[in-house]
Amino acid sequence: MKNISKALSSIKENGLYRDCKYLSSSQEPRVNMEEREIILLGSNNYLGLCNDMDVKEAAKDGIDNYGAGSGGSRLTTGSYDLHRELEDKISSFKGTEGALIFNTGYMANIGVISTLCDRKWVIFSDRYNHASIVDGCLLSGAKLVRYRHCDMDDLERKINIYKGSNNLIVTDGVFSMDGDVSPLPDIVRLAKKHDIITMVDDAHGVGVLGHRGRGTPSYFNLNGEIDIQMGTLSKAIASVGGYVAGKKILIDYIRNTSRSFIFSTSLPPSAIAASLKAIEIIQGDDERRKKLMNLSKWFREKLLKIGFNISSTITPIIPILIGDAVKAVEFSESLLEEGIYVPAIRPPTVPRGSSRLRISLMATHRHGDLRYVLRALKHHGKRLGIIRG
Ligand SMILES: *Cc1c(COP(=O)(O)O)cnc(C)c1O
Repeated sequence: MKNISKALSSIKENGLYRDCKYLSSSQEPRVNMEEREIILLGSNNYLGLCNDMDVKEAAKDGIDNYGAGSGGSRLTTGSYDLHRELEDKISSFKGTEGALIFNTGYMANIGVISTLCDRKWVIFSDRYNHASIVDGCLLSGAKLVRYRHCDMDDLERKINIYKGSNNLIVTDGVFSMDGDVSPLPDIVRLAKKHDIITMVDDAHGVGVLGHRGRGTPSYFNLNGEIDIQMGTLSKAIASVGGYVAGKKILIDYIRNTSRSFIFSTSLPPSAIAASLKAIEIIQGDDERRKKLMNLSKWFREKLLKIGFNISSTITPIIPILIGDAVKAVEFSESLLEEGIYVPAIRPPTVPRGSSRLRISLMATHRHGDLRYVLRALKHHGKRLGIIRG
């Protein structure tokens, strides 16, 4: 316990202490937080479907028809026709032979990578990949080779040095904390040249990029070129769960061997029904997605004009680079006083010295609210010396 309290003090001193912020309303552009109305700017509810009438209605029907809990794991009593329907829907959406649902994206990554790879494998992983990918790699026991973020020269150099008999290249489709898009065409080219399996984690790409939101591979016209497509049902798809999609034989193997799939109670029918409805909406109506992309472009241009250091992205994830963790927290807290919540992202989520405010937009944000946000960002950005006055 002494060590724990020492570690906590050091976390606090370095501006890395974390606590939860509690909402008492749904995930919307404006939320109730600790008795105040706050503009929310860090949500992954990109298309605003978390509180959509039809999605909620589907979840309620799920409860009415099947009950609240699922009662078992997928391979015992916890598989419902809804699970099969959702897996079929995901595979047709992603254009693959099959798909398998996990309880979270995190569990999908650790479950897929650790069952596919073992000590004899070499995994080439982008340095900025999501923590769940890294954990999957560690759990697998494979040799983990991390290449510089989106740097294809570094990737090929490392392939030439470390390549073994079984190899995997794994990357986020859209990077969660930077919002940039992985150079998938180059990755596919290198993978073909060196005979390596590819895996894309499209947690932030699905619903946002590609033809009718099919994701990053579709954005690059690489349908069918990625061996393992993984994603989450908890972001644009506005529910909870993870999935893996790919060839039937791969899905069969994962269903039979993946421990995070096998040894956990399946998602409740309400969550599955909500995902089904949300994907249906995404497939049927591209307006939300277009609105989100236009709003993001407009907002990025405004931030650049004000003088903020933002990475060049095309996605609704728009990080404002600050650097110092303490200053990032100070910026975030000043904004909260103005009624705006943008989370400060710090190590270990991002590399040391690259703390940031991670803004992410929803299709349902209003221009008026965003203009208010821009004024506050400019004011406090100047006051804190983040932009020039
Ligand atoms: C959010 C996220 C995950 C985890 O998904 P959950 O469903 O939230 O567990 C995995 N990978 C990336 C890139 C993510 O952003």
